[in-house]
Amino acid sequence: MFLGFQKNQTWWSQNIDENLKLKVTGDSKNILVKNHYLSCDPYMRLLMKNQSTEIFDPYTPGAPITGLGVSKVIDSRNPELKEGDLFWGITGWEEYSLLKSSEGLFKIHHTDIPLSYYTGILGMPGLTAYGGFYEVCAPKKGEYVFVSAASGAVGQLVGQFAKLMGCYVVGSAGTQDKVELLKNKFGFDDAFNYKEEPDLNAAVKRYFPEGIDIYFENVGGKMLHAVLLNMRVCGRIAVCGMISQYNCDQPEGVHNLMSIVYKRVRIEGFAVADYYPQYSKFLDFILPYIREGKIKYVEDIVEGLENAPTALIGLFNGRNVGKQVVVVSSQ
Ligand code: NDP
Repeated sequence: MFLGFQKNQTWWSQNIDENLKLKVTGDSKNILVKNHYLSCDPYMRLLMKNQSTEIFDPYTPGAPITGLGVSKVIDSRNPELKEGDLFWGITGWEEYSLLKSSEGLFKIHHTDIPLSYYTGILGMPGLTAYGGFYEVCAPKKGEYVFVSAASGAVGQLVGQFAKLMGCYVVGSAGTQDKVELLKNKFGFDDAFNYKEEPDLNAAVKRYFPEGIDIYFENVGGKMLHAVLLNMRVCGRIAVCGMISQYNCDQPEGVHNLMSIVYKRVRIEGFAVADYYPQYSKFLDFILPYIREGKIKYVEDIVEGLENAPTALIGLFNGRNVGKQVVVVSSQ
């Protein structure tokens, strides 16, 4: 029987038999799960750098990597989850995983929505967009909002939330097809391909002649430098991520910082984990919009665990269009 993970890893149980049942007794909280959908997320690159962050420990070389996914319980010694339950949360990049506890796992109750959505709009990226936009950006009707990596898992939602709020929204993305998607599917007021702009400062000024109230930062680097020159007085920058820096050995310096002083700009980083306690409130908010078709979500679905590494790498050259998902098993 191939379980897809190595026998010498710490969470391997010798007690899984050929029928995929746990023989664990005592006070173990083990859960044996079948992985259906895996989520490719930019933070995973940071865990390959052998540096601990405040949030995650780095990956262990030689052990299967972990990430967010949608899984079904095959057998459980944990009172929180029973056989047949579906959930999303951290699992292994493998066909089956043995999880040691139910901590950080979210049981799935709404199955009228595609299960893969729990890697995106109904999972971590959705909550990121929700907490980052509504709480960190504190938007007001009519404000000017700019979103980078706007067609991705998080960005496409931030733009749609901003439109729901009555803001003027522009997004940047790395291909003309993504620009069309932003304008025609997600309802952004405008969008541009940053790779075709020789002068990002001039580009941002062109789309925001009166300046930016809110910048939802996903990329960092040169885009941030340009945005800092174009913020309005008392603008807010929600620093969600800086993907342009994740492959760098040393992050590049930030320019134009004095604009923060002149314009009294508030820059605030945030971590989605801070919003996990609000998950059920978030579901109450987002589910009606999905069911009524008022919020759209685009996924980039790749079939097969063997294609997962290429899909993950694709995040860093913009190969993905929308939320990058890997299907391990749809059954
Ligand atoms: P996406 O689905 O947007 O995929 C990443 C996209 O980033 C690519 O498709 C590409 O789009 C763009 N990109 C890649 N490299 C660069 C580069 N060098 N310069 C500019 N753009 C680049 O990812 P997510 O929506 O999942 O994540 C977006 C951001 O949010 C990331 O920074 C991520 O780390 C962060 N994040 C933070 C969280 C938090 O808790 N703070 C939680 C979740 C995500 P394009 O074609 O447009 O270049």
